[in-house]
Amino acid sequence: MSVMNVRRLIPTTAVAGAVTLGLVTLTACGGTSDAADKGSAGKLDVVASFYPMQYLAEQIGGGHVAVTTLTKPGVEPHDLELKPKQIGELGEADVLLYLKGIQPAVDEAIAQAGVKTTVDASTLTTLEAHGTGAGEGHDHAHEGEEHAEEESHEGHDHGSEAGADPHVWLDPVKYAEVAKGVGAAFEKADPDHAADYKANTAALVKKLGDLNTAFETGLKDTTTRTFITTHSAFGYLAERYHLDQEGISGVDPESEPSPARIKELQDIAKADKVTTVFFETLASDRTAKTLAQDTGLKTDVLDPLEGITDGSRGDDYIEVMQANLAALKTALGAK
Ligand SMILES: [Zn+2]
Repeated sequence: MSVMNVRRLIPTTAVAGAVTLGLVTLTACGGTSDAADKGSAGKLDVVASFYPMQYLAEQIGGGHVAVTTLTKPGVEPHDLELKPKQIGELGEADVLLYLKGIQPAVDEAIAQAGVKTTVDASTLTTLEAHGTGAGEGHDHAHEGEEHAEEESHEGHDHGSEAGADPHVWLDPVKYAEVAKGVGAAFEKADPDHAADYKANTAALVKKLGDLNTAFETGLKDTTTRTFITTHSAFGYLAERYHLDQEGISGVDPESEPSPARIKELQDIAKADKVTTVFFETLASDRTAKTLAQDTGLKTDVLDPLEGITDGSRGDDYIEVMQANLAALKTALGAK
């Protein structure tokens, strides 16, 4: 098995070993790796931590960048473990683009990589604390389903302790702020193509502005402002459009919601005329379906966009966000 948990390795000399191994492998393979190919093509090598960062890099970088994404489609970002080859490629990158606080393994590996241009998206906008709606703190209800037997769960309730919710990309306004910061970083890292990065950033910011307008108008007048979701990822989105997110699970992702929380959600559903319980494509939908059944509600998908797969309702960030808007309009009874 070549998969290593970076968390366990960082304090030891094994990381240095892994990096060396990665570099040796690149050389030995005669440049067959992605990193080597892209390097020789004279492009700016950007390593993005997960999909929302990849999308920014591709949109802003256009033809001048070669983007590698650490989190493959369908992998929950926080469950990510890095292979030695990936750790090696971190050191080779021209730009590392990540969002601190969502992937502990990536945070630590990037801190060790020593790359000149490291862009932490969490510093490019303002992070806030968000609860599930019942003061239980932010968390991922879907986590740990398949990996319950593993030990590497330290990072799972990201945001709940420190209070900072990392899901900024689900608010188009905050995502646009991050885009501007990434654009500026690309201009600095690759001044020869600064004009293109500036133009691409402006085009992306415009698209995000249009998306924001679509959400604002689409959700202006609705029967209810409350939505129930397994994954409390939509705190920024809820705040932006004056909605009320009610998360099903509490802080511990492996625990079932308490009977008290279920009762509370049933009461909220009734009082607030909730029609739909949302889950996400990649996550376990068992709790959501049980709750929906018990309360006579429908279920639907609200996608936190932590990755794009064949199951996603769209091919990129904008399309999936438009699908999210359509699902919210139906669930909330938009007029
Ligand atoms: Zn999340």
